[in-house]
Amino acid sequence: MLQKLKESLNNCTNCSLYKERNNVVFSDGSENAKIMLIGEAPGADEDKSGIPFVGRAGKLLNEFLEKAGIERKKDIYIANTVKCRPPKNRKPLPCEKIACEGNLQKQIDIVKPKVIILCGSCAMESFIKDKKITITKARGQVFEYKDGIKLVPVFHPSYLLRKHSLEPNSPRDLTLKDLKMIKEISVV
Ligand code: SF4
Repeated sequence: MLQKLKESLNNCTNCSLYKERNNVVFSDGSENAKIMLIGEAPGADEDKSGIPFVGRAGKLLNEFLEKAGIERKKDIYIANTVKCRPPKNRKPLPCEKIACEGNLQKQIDIVKPKVIILCGSCAMESFIKDKKITITKARGQVFEYKDGIKLVPVFHPSYLLRKHSLEPNSPRDLTLKDLKMIKEISVV
């Protein structure tokens, strides 16, 4: 079913992001995963390869997943709020996110994860509508979603690329703790 959905998007023109894309960046990882990760949007490396989280931020994400005992190919299904790269890596516009929302919802409905990691504020804002809550406050908290699915916001790896400290309670330290907790709640 996911393959059909993926193929159906190859010619999608539902929002203006189709104009500059080289590839629709649909997903990576396992359709049978208990954990789904939703990021913001494809960047240049992702647009080129057609795979989410393969650039510098993706490599850092892989390191964190590995440290938390989460296998990228087996334990997690990765997608973005929009499937086509916004020009100059800008944030996707609300209208673009809305245009692609149905595709993301179908991915969630087919994969049926136990936990969804909302990676960064853009993904968080698509699911947690409280405008007062920031990613700094929300990260590591567990929010209830539909069908018993739990939502957990975490810092985006692009942010962590600028934060090198590994001190206790630094963004990197907190992210590792968040991912370890996510792994635990995904298996209960
Ligand atoms: S971002 Fe989504 S809605 Fe917009 S063109 Fe790409 S696949 Fe279609």
